[in-house]
Amino acid sequence: MELHWLTVKEAGELLSRGELGWRELFLGLRERIDRVDPRVRAYISLAGDDAISPPGGKGSLSGIPLAVKDNICTKGLETTCASKILKGFRPPYDATVIERLKTAGCVLLGKTNLDEFAMGSSTENSGLFTTHNPWDLGRVPGGSSGGSAAAVAAGECLAALGSDTGGSIRQPAAFCGVVGLKPTYGRVSRYGLVAFASSLDQIGPICRTVEDAALIMEVISGYDPKDSTSAPYPPLNAHELLSKEVKGMVVGLPREYYGEGLDPQVREAVMEGVRVLEGLGCRVEEVSLPHTPYAVATYYLVATAEASSNLARYDGVRYGLRAVGYEDLYEMYVKTRSQGFGEEVKRRIMLGTYALSAGYYDAYYLKAQRVRTLIRGDFERVFETCEALVTPTSPTPAFRIGERVQDPLTMYLSDIYTISANLAGIPAISIPCGFTQEGLPVGLQIMGRAFDEATILSLGHAYQGVTDWHKKTPPL
Ligand code: GLN
Repeated sequence: MELHWLTVKEAGELLSRGELGWRELFLGLRERIDRVDPRVRAYISLAGDDAISPPGGKGSLSGIPLAVKDNICTKGLETTCASKILKGFRPPYDATVIERLKTAGCVLLGKTNLDEFAMGSSTENSGLFTTHNPWDLGRVPGGSSGGSAAAVAAGECLAALGSDTGGSIRQPAAFCGVVGLKPTYGRVSRYGLVAFASSLDQIGPICRTVEDAALIMEVISGYDPKDSTSAPYPPLNAHELLSKEVKGMVVGLPREYYGEGLDPQVREAVMEGVRVLEGLGCRVEEVSLPHTPYAVATYYLVATAEASSNLARYDGVRYGLRAVGYEDLYEMYVKTRSQGFGEEVKRRIMLGTYALSAGYYDAYYLKAQRVRTLIRGDFERVFETCEALVTPTSPTPAFRIGERVQDPLTMYLSDIYTISANLAGIPAISIPCGFTQEGLPVGLQIMGRAFDEATILSLGHAYQGVTDWHKKTPPL
């Protein structure tokens, strides 16, 4: 048995029956990382020997080795956001999700690569290095949670955490052939997640099965007084998340998500997935989300505005890097930020600052907020009749490393189908639904009503019960 291909569910059963030791599992994964990570480069850092102490508690995930995106604070363990500006930053506390995973008995393997401060769709904006797609090492793993998705796909962990502001869990999950869930805004505490765009950010699981996503959600979801946007609901129950009756569900296909720009092979795989859902008894109908064409522009105003404010704190005074050789405080700020931030982060700070500046605020930021309300309204309308929406996760499969770096606009378009769920605050999951002729994975996205993760997870779980795309592993 290859330990590194176990699901969280399978490993949990073996561990609890005493047929597998947590140390054996942990070391098995470490060995796998040693073998494949020099080629994949999913990890920024590996947890030290303290991770090899026996897992705390007898929780539901006792002994399960996980990877965590490096923008989630881990006490004493370097948290860089893949930025030079945070080099050497060791948080004095754990994010709430980390605290909860530790209480449930998880073992932390290490921290995974991302686009700097989660700004990007390929990990090429990482200030450290680019991660490679395990299915084709010449291609990107997607982003920004590319390290987490690649680690899961390559068998370098059983599951991982990512964060999703405009698609950063779902798009890399699609590119790497794994499952990625962005929960409803407010469902999972953001305390200890380094903020990019606070009204859009959510933490969620990346794993191989929908069932594993439910097991992780059971642990990380639920109200947290330390996050003022946390919703006042108790943690979700994994069994309830997976057991809704799928037969008779009304599933909408938003016409705007199947138009121009969609790769024909992606379309074919997704439509095949839709037929599988029909076979499970779902009723499929075409719907319209008319404000979809404005989503990318709206997102890049709201997200950059919030980012420009959130990133003001990296000034050389409190965290990580401080430039040397300055005359006064102002020059220290300028030098530190010029040297510490990468190009994309600077671009976004400038765009956001511009959108918020006097004279332009109404024309850009305020207008974007109004369009955001219209986009949310589109979803409210279709969810009066549909329980879920099915779309491609990304218009294309994984692209080649280097192909889009000079063209930020094309890069931004790879999130065209994922961004709206963040603007509307609704939950959405990406599930592997096939491969292109070149052997690249394709992801199918299911979006649901706010706080109705149960519908999309039950659909995804039923889908995985009758398909086996999620069982395929890359030839590494
Ligand atoms: N790719 C999108 C961006 O660059 C989304 C990133 C994210 O979800 N963190 O902003």
